[in-house]
Amino acid sequence: MTTTIDSFRQLGLAEPLLAALAEVGYERPSPIQAACIPPLLAGRDLLGEAQTGTGKTAAFALPVLSRLDLSVRDPQALVLAPTRELAIQVAEAFQRYARQLPGFQVLPVYGGQGMAAQLKQLQRGAHVIVGTPGRVMDHINRKTLRLDRLRTLVLDEADEMLRMGFVDDVDWILEHTPAERQVVLFSATMPDPIRRIARRHMRSPEEVKIRERTTTVAATTQKYCKVAAPHKLDALTRILETEEALDAALVFVRTKTATVEIADKLEARGYAVAALNGDLTQPLRERVIEQLKQGRLDIIVATDVAARGLDVSRITHVINFDVPYDTEAYVHRIGRTGRAGRTGTAILFVTPREMRMLGMIERATRQKIEPLPLPSRAAVADRRVAQFREQIETVIATEELGFFRDVVRDLEAGGNADLHEVAAALAFLAQRERPLQLPPAKGPDIADAQHSMRPAPARTPVKQINPGGALVRYRIEVGRNHQAMPKDIVGAIANETGMGGRNIGRIDLFDDYSTVELPEDLPPEILETLRRTRVRQRPLGLRTLTAEEAAITARPGARPKRPPAGKDAKPAKAGKPKPRKPSKPKRA
Ligand code: AMP
Repeated sequence: MTTTIDSFRQLGLAEPLLAALAEVGYERPSPIQAACIPPLLAGRDLLGEAQTGTGKTAAFALPVLSRLDLSVRDPQALVLAPTRELAIQVAEAFQRYARQLPGFQVLPVYGGQGMAAQLKQLQRGAHVIVGTPGRVMDHINRKTLRLDRLRTLVLDEADEMLRMGFVDDVDWILEHTPAERQVVLFSATMPDPIRRIARRHMRSPEEVKIRERTTTVAATTQKYCKVAAPHKLDALTRILETEEALDAALVFVRTKTATVEIADKLEARGYAVAALNGDLTQPLRERVIEQLKQGRLDIIVATDVAARGLDVSRITHVINFDVPYDTEAYVHRIGRTGRAGRTGTAILFVTPREMRMLGMIERATRQKIEPLPLPSRAAVADRRVAQFREQIETVIATEELGFFRDVVRDLEAGGNADLHEVAAALAFLAQRERPLQLPPAKGPDIADAQHSMRPAPARTPVKQINPGGALVRYRIEVGRNHQAMPKDIVGAIANETGMGGRNIGRIDLFDDYSTVELPEDLPPEILETLRRTRVRQRPLGLRTLTAEEAAITARPGARPKRPPAGKDAKPAKAGKPKPRKPSKPKRA
């Protein structure tokens, strides 16, 4: 995907959206945005191959918002997302970009959320609905979600929806939308079933794909650091403190606002740092670069645009605080280090949801990017103590200390403290500004959290669960009488644990409870999560079956087999929703 688009204005977005984008600090469209926004504004269907981190949400949200008729309070756009977490994120993104559209309403709807409140909100009306397929289907069936004014349907993370067994639901929903609607499908991969959906429901869609051009990146050591978004700043400071041979660093973020925010926070921590973004005038920009060259600044926090062409041989480290939109941007960024024949280090921060970006970059650069364990608190303290010692040794070697020696001698002669105590007190005073020890952590330390970090929901099976392992039946306290459906249960379990559909076997609904097959060796923290997870507002209270219950609930005939991988997410579910009949389960 090549693009020479430099501004959102060139894309033809409505004024209030341009104003909002300026407020949130986006400097220019990401490549996927530049490629998707014009055809979407023109009303075309679109098939986009893009993952989290590319800016795909804004790529569909901005044209949807641009085309809205705010005076019509019926849903004009419906976004389907695989998980409630994503549905909420997408709804938040809509809100962010619509801040200059008075009266705009977006409503997230997902399973496990109170039905009464949802119905009330639906009645009040919303311009955009973002929901998980199960709950959306539910509302269409109940006629609480009317789609006759729908103009756009977006399928976000279609491959995830497929993996979670929602493909029939998605198909069904598509069939229940007006024939003239625009269909937009985003997926990180394009397996056959997704292509089939596209063929069935889309009209000559525009196809957009992030280009993965392979390039070589010489002279740069590449590492990545898995870190949750709220811990990035802490991770950055630890790395700045402990990286060997760090002279100057260039930190890349996505927005102008973030350049300033992070530069301010680093400054407060004692770094000589400046922000570099597109708002800076050319003379100011040149001054910042000159200061970096001369060593009056050590760190620059920049956007891609602002750092273009930056050539300062002092830069030993490039830190990708926010992932780049594509591999090309990555290669540009890391090309800012390892200049003038020197070697450089590039460190990439990835949140669990963005791990796919890592694979893409590895493929494009044909290099393995090694994980960088975050320095522990003890490592940071050791480093600070070592630097402190160096400072003291330098002062002893270079400064005239006669007067100060007398002060100390007097203190000792006063008889209240020995020399060690005096020195310790001085060390204490000297480190007040920049403590030698890190303050105690409130929760688990981020360096430890890195190892136990929960993977993105439903993206990767929970690490400790062996996907091929045996399944056993568990009891959960929701059943037919609570209007629970197998897909609600699968959705909730997948959402809350990150388990893929292949770890979830047969589900049997009874009147007051259900049984669900899950791996037999579920780790305690997952068991605990699933005890508390709610479906239809009821905690699942997941537990293993007693022998007696197992006998009562056993199905006639053979013990249920593990369903084949692939179409295993909702074994107890028929293709389309049927009217529910209150029936007793068959007993053995
Ligand atoms: P997404 O790939 O949609 O999950 O977006 C990833 C992140 O990039 C989000 O935090 C967005 O706020 C941010 N983002 C999206 N588009 C832009 C842009 N044009 N400039 C700066 N940040 C952006």
